[in-house]
Amino acid sequence: MFSIGLTGGIGSGKSTVADLFAARGVPLIDADLIAHQITAPGGVAMPLIAGEFGDGFIAADGSLDRAKMRALVFADDTAKARLEGIVHPLIRAETERQRLAAQGAYHIVVVPLLVESGEWASRVSRVLVVDCPVETQIARVMRRNGFTREQVLAIMAKQASREARLAAADDIVINNEIATRDALAQQVDALHARYLSLASA
Ligand code: ADP
Repeated sequence: MFSIGLTGGIGSGKSTVADLFAARGVPLIDADLIAHQITAPGGVAMPLIAGEFGDGFIAADGSLDRAKMRALVFADDTAKARLEGIVHPLIRAETERQRLAAQGAYHIVVVPLLVESGEWASRVSRVLVVDCPVETQIARVMRRNGFTREQVLAIMAKQASREARLAAADDIVINNEIATRDALAQQVDALHARYLSLASA
């Protein structure tokens, strides 16, 4: 099973790059999407979260009250660890299921916090980092999410540094402020060819 773990800081361009691989027929497994699904109404994590944190964290439709949980875990590392103790094994199991079911020579697992969560690096064949300067990252997220600079900085403070991410990279996509869509596509084409050849070796 040849697995590429795709990661990058918020606003680096992970989704943009992942979509380019998908357009080349590469199966994508998205850890964030899985996290969302297990905490949607009827999601497998919901009874466990209600048991651990109480019904106050469950929205009227049965999904996780994301705003409330985000506020709690942002301020309280113990609560964050308790939440992760519930959701991480479920995300891991579902990712594994999708990885085994994936068709094609290789697949991509998009994991925003791959470098931060340690265990992931050993579960993928290669780590692909989407990189851009910190100021570009800030500008993109302010534009995309309508956040203030301070809000973006607060999120980034909880993520690995650009340097730590690059140190963990086997491969890098450069998605800086001058990267055009064509430039990105060229980098993805080169990586795709490389991954196909590595997967068949
Ligand atoms: P991530 O998934 O890492 O948070 P996205 O792929 O969503 O990042 O990109 C963040 C934002 O920046 C999006 O609005 C995206 O359209 C934009 N963006 C990404 N790469 C570029 C680029 N090379 N040039 C201009 N805008 C970009």
